[in-house]
Amino acid sequence: MNLAKGNGGPPIRDELSISWHSLSTEEALKELDSGFQTGLTSQEAARRLEQYGRNQLTEKPRPGFLQLVLDQLKDFVVILLIVAAFVSLILGETIDAGAIFAIVVLNAVLGVVQESRAEAALDALKKMSAPEAQVLRDGHRASLSSTLLVPGDIVLLEAGNFIPADVRLVEAINLRVEEAALTGESIAVQKNAALRLEKNIPLGDRKNIGFMGTTVSYGRGRGVVVSTGMHTQLGLIADMLQAVENEKTPLQKRLDQLGRLLGTGALIVCGLVFLLGFYRAANEVGLAALFQPGKGLQTIVDLFMVAVSLAIAAVPEGLPAVVTISLALGMREMVHRHALIRKLSSVETLGSATVICSDKTGTLTQNEMTVTRLWVDGKMFEITGSGYSVEGEFKLDEKPVSLAQFPGASTVLWVGVLNNDAQLEPLEAAPQSIIGNHSGTYRMVGDPTEGSILVAAAKAGVYAPELHQAYPRKNEIPFDSNRKRMVTIHHVADQKDADISPLYGDERDRWYAVAVKGAPDVVLNLCTEYQTVDDQILPMDGATRARILEANDQMTGHALRVLGLAYRMVPAMPDEIATHSIDEELVFAGMVGMIDPARPEVTPALVLAAGAGIRTIMITGDYPNTARAIAQTIGLLQPGHKVLTGADLNELNDEQLRREVKVTDVFARVSPEHKMRIVDALRADDEIVAMTGDGVNDAPAIKRADIGIAMGITGTDVAKQTADMVLTDDNYVSIVSAIEQGRIIYSNIRKFVYYLLSCNMAEIAIIFLGTLFGWGSPLTAIQLLWLNLVTDGAPALALATEKGDPDIMIQKPRPTKEPIINHQMRIGIIVQTIAITVATLSAFLLGRSTGAPIEFAKTMAFVTLSCSELLRAFTARSEYFPLFKIGVFSNRLMNYAVVSSLVMILAVVYVPFLQSIFNTIPLGWQQWVSIAPLLVLPSVAAEVTKFVLSTRLKQ
Ligand code: ADP
Ligand code: MG
Repeated sequence: MNLAKGNGGPPIRDELSISWHSLSTEEALKELDSGFQTGLTSQEAARRLEQYGRNQLTEKPRPGFLQLVLDQLKDFVVILLIVAAFVSLILGETIDAGAIFAIVVLNAVLGVVQESRAEAALDALKKMSAPEAQVLRDGHRASLSSTLLVPGDIVLLEAGNFIPADVRLVEAINLRVEEAALTGESIAVQKNAALRLEKNIPLGDRKNIGFMGTTVSYGRGRGVVVSTGMHTQLGLIADMLQAVENEKTPLQKRLDQLGRLLGTGALIVCGLVFLLGFYRAANEVGLAALFQPGKGLQTIVDLFMVAVSLAIAAVPEGLPAVVTISLALGMREMVHRHALIRKLSSVETLGSATVICSDKTGTLTQNEMTVTRLWVDGKMFEITGSGYSVEGEFKLDEKPVSLAQFPGASTVLWVGVLNNDAQLEPLEAAPQSIIGNHSGTYRMVGDPTEGSILVAAAKAGVYAPELHQAYPRKNEIPFDSNRKRMVTIHHVADQKDADISPLYGDERDRWYAVAVKGAPDVVLNLCTEYQTVDDQILPMDGATRARILEANDQMTGHALRVLGLAYRMVPAMPDEIATHSIDEELVFAGMVGMIDPARPEVTPALVLAAGAGIRTIMITGDYPNTARAIAQTIGLLQPGHKVLTGADLNELNDEQLRREVKVTDVFARVSPEHKMRIVDALRADDEIVAMTGDGVNDAPAIKRADIGIAMGITGTDVAKQTADMVLTDDNYVSIVSAIEQGRIIYSNIRKFVYYLLSCNMAEIAIIFLGTLFGWGSPLTAIQLLWLNLVTDGAPALALATEKGDPDIMIQKPRPTKEPIINHQMRIGIIVQTIAITVATLSAFLLGRSTGAPIEFAKTMAFVTLSCSELLRAFTARSEYFPLFKIGVFSNRLMNYAVVSSLVMILAVVYVPFLQSIFNTIPLGWQQWVSIAPLLVLPSVAAEVTKFVLSTRLKQ
């Protein structure tokens, strides 16, 4: 029953038919032809990928092209227009009917293109946020997109991971998995790889299986993939999960509302226009004549068509698509700036952020740790060298020393190396293993805090692979930021040569070593003995305790991150690792201090944020001294502001915290629950909070914040999944950059809302007034439709690509409750509506006064309306800055949009066969001269409005 190998034959068995939970781990591995240590070869994996397909849930098919077209067409007003076109066809107006029909189709196509572009952009973003899986391929650990997993792959699981496929666990160390997504059970399930289970037990009891889509909440383990994609248990219920739709953002909802309101308003006005026109016509020729076939009936149809075309032109139906596109474009820009947005609505929220709560390690600092100090029993060793190069030496009182003289110092390093999940890999794939090749630079895999200890140990000649072999790890309690420590248990019984181990000592009956590393005060509290620099073990006393804490203070005061190390020998393997007794009565070995330099680019970003009215607060599990020192270096700690610790926080009630948080820039020694309280305290004061996090425990705070941010590199899947935004470079600077982008997007949306709405209002006013004054409609139905098609789409899209006003990061954060059409925009829209209406009606009257046929006047109106709107698009590029200041032609897309729109407008006026379709009469240069002032009137009015509003705002 082995898998077909080599030439990629058809699947020879259905993986669902095997009850993997009833097999032993060996049987499962054999069945899948995979190795616990090696995984699959990449060739075999590629073959299986071909055979089984990608590991992803297939989505419900999207509505097809035709469906989208129909969606556009079924719009009520469009149907009315088509009906009118048909009536007109029956009456013999073939050209009119055909043209209207063509424009409606064009409009629909444009809508479809816009919407599918928006969809495609969103899809691309979704793909980017697909999780990575850690697997063994060709015997090496590799990180790859979970969609590439195949049956037989060995995946490595640790706390915070999503289980990327259904796996039979082959190793489970304190592995607890949260399976609520699948079983609804909210308590994490303790997994056990060694079990063999009955075939028919329910999913929730399959303790040796990890299911796709569930999350590891604790511990670590390994599993062999047994099924992928739609064959997983999650795949079987995938249909249920697909109900989750892209939710609209608050802004989109508000704009939809606005659109509906305007739409209804426009429809009412259009009804009025029709009735008014009808009334006038009836007055002129008599009611009876109107219903005569021929000219009479044609008048009614014309009236009707103008009314309906006006409705189409005036309803801002393109708005939602343009908004989506601009949000999506903005998100793409943010990806370039290392911020991946997971919820469209966060783009808006980002623009109004007022506080950033940032982690220290890795976000404000480089997270490239180097151990520079080693403290043992009063001796402070200095360690030279930098980065992950293992070249460097130990110094005591500035003089190089050999650690061989100080066995106690070696013990500290031993504990640090054993209690360690990081690995150093040679940078070039050197043929030798690390053993025997002790120089050069390495690539560090894992937590930099731990990696730096490996480097320091290597500098002293203590090599991790050798130690791990001699003292195999038997059990562990993983690091967690609440306990602030990590515990490992090692077997030492196999050691024949007593000299190899300082841990071994003379207590030959103690076969297990417990190694502990963590925050020094936490570790110290667990110690009853300490170890001298000569490797003697003495009882802990108050003086020693004080000495240790003092050394800790000294190191943290120099911005070092300090870890305490301790151990204990026990006679037998403790049964229940989680019991408290395991890390008690420890021997304090010593401390290591590591530097983590601040990111140089953070300081300017902090200044930028502060200028934009955004406060930054540092939140860290590290020591207040370390945190304060770094906060001062980067300029985060404002003069007079405080540093508070988690312990201080516990003393404060919510009311007090609300007050304190205003004057506290650094929170140190905090646990993830404290993060929640800080978010709540800030939010109670109406702050819009962006909060970073990486661990499983950070998820609630990330969720609670207005903008939850997860670390892309060090963050767990759980944190990422909860977050609104993921930083692909873990860098604080990217947060500020994303906020800036969020502001730009919002201001661009405002720009085209302003542009589109004033165009539409003006069109309504022009037709309504023309009819009211008995001049007839100043534009024909086809002209209106064409205008709508040409002026609305391209320039509005171009506005969505504006780079942002120069003062975008000088303004204060925008209040979230502020409506998009605020006071200033309302004034702007009214002024524009008046200016465009006056210009167009003047042109119409000018045309009429020449005594030429009415078509000539209509052409004048059409040209004036469309060209003035195109010119106006330039001034709409900034709300407050004069056009010459932002550069008239600085938006290339806008130049193309306006030029091509202009060509389309002039074409219907000057190309002969289009003239007959659009009922236009070409204008001579005299007319152009006479309407020139009218063309620029709205733009000039817009610039004057800007000037007045911005000087008023400054006061
Ligand atoms: P931060 O990374 O902001 O310092 P954490 O909550 O991750 O906050 O860590 C809290 C404390 O736990 C650290 O200051 C350090 O003393 C200790 N610590 C951090 N990483 C480890 C680790 N891998 N093993 C043991 N202790 C650790
Ligand atoms: Mg950390």
